[in-house]
Amino acid sequence: MRLNPIGLALDMTGDAASRVGEDRFDGVIFDMDGTLVEPLLDFAGIRSRLGVPPGQGILEAIEAMPPPQRSGASRWLVGQELAAAAEAKLMPGAAEAVEAIRRAGLKTALMTRNTRRAMEIVLTKLSLRFDLAWSREDGPVKPSGDGIVLVCRQMGVLPRRAACVGDFEYDVLAANAAGAYSILLASGERPSWADQARCVIKSLFEMPGVLGISGAP
Ligand SMILES: [Mg+2]
Repeated sequence: MRLNPIGLALDMTGDAASRVGEDRFDGVIFDMDGTLVEPLLDFAGIRSRLGVPPGQGILEAIEAMPPPQRSGASRWLVGQELAAAAEAKLMPGAAEAVEAIRRAGLKTALMTRNTRRAMEIVLTKLSLRFDLAWSREDGPVKPSGDGIVLVCRQMGVLPRRAACVGDFEYDVLAANAAGAYSILLASGERPSWADQARCVIKSLFEMPGVLGISGAP
């Protein structure tokens, strides 16, 4: 908790937090779909096809299916994910943000609920480099904070000195649960749950400013 000169606690949420001085973060964890790469997965279509009820995650719904149905649904989902990965395109400012963060000496990680093969296709296709890349085969997935804690541990970064950027509520919930700094990328309409994030940005070009690092090459 930071105190101002007369001893009152500073509100470290929202825009105020984006003005925190340098040396606040040691690592940044990026979400993949809809954050680093253009949203190509049709989540509404996938939910409809698999009959996933509102409020339940797609992976969690598949996990809860009886075995024969589960394996068919899982195979079908992976097919969708691989097809989307093959078409992946960087979001505006993604390459610049990752490069600026690496140049500033911060650790970088990619963390996705996507499957490992799709993640590796995206990383290769777009020539993205991270200190660590974590798919759903690698351990706990968002919205649990456990995966964030493990990723931070592997990067040698304290969760409270890590920033996590993502475009979905699960990204924000996971970051908050881990004690990391949650950054919501809301390039379109601001979602109803946006206030759960510590900081909301409209573009990845805002990342250096939020992190207190230089964006210039
Ligand atoms: Mg996403």
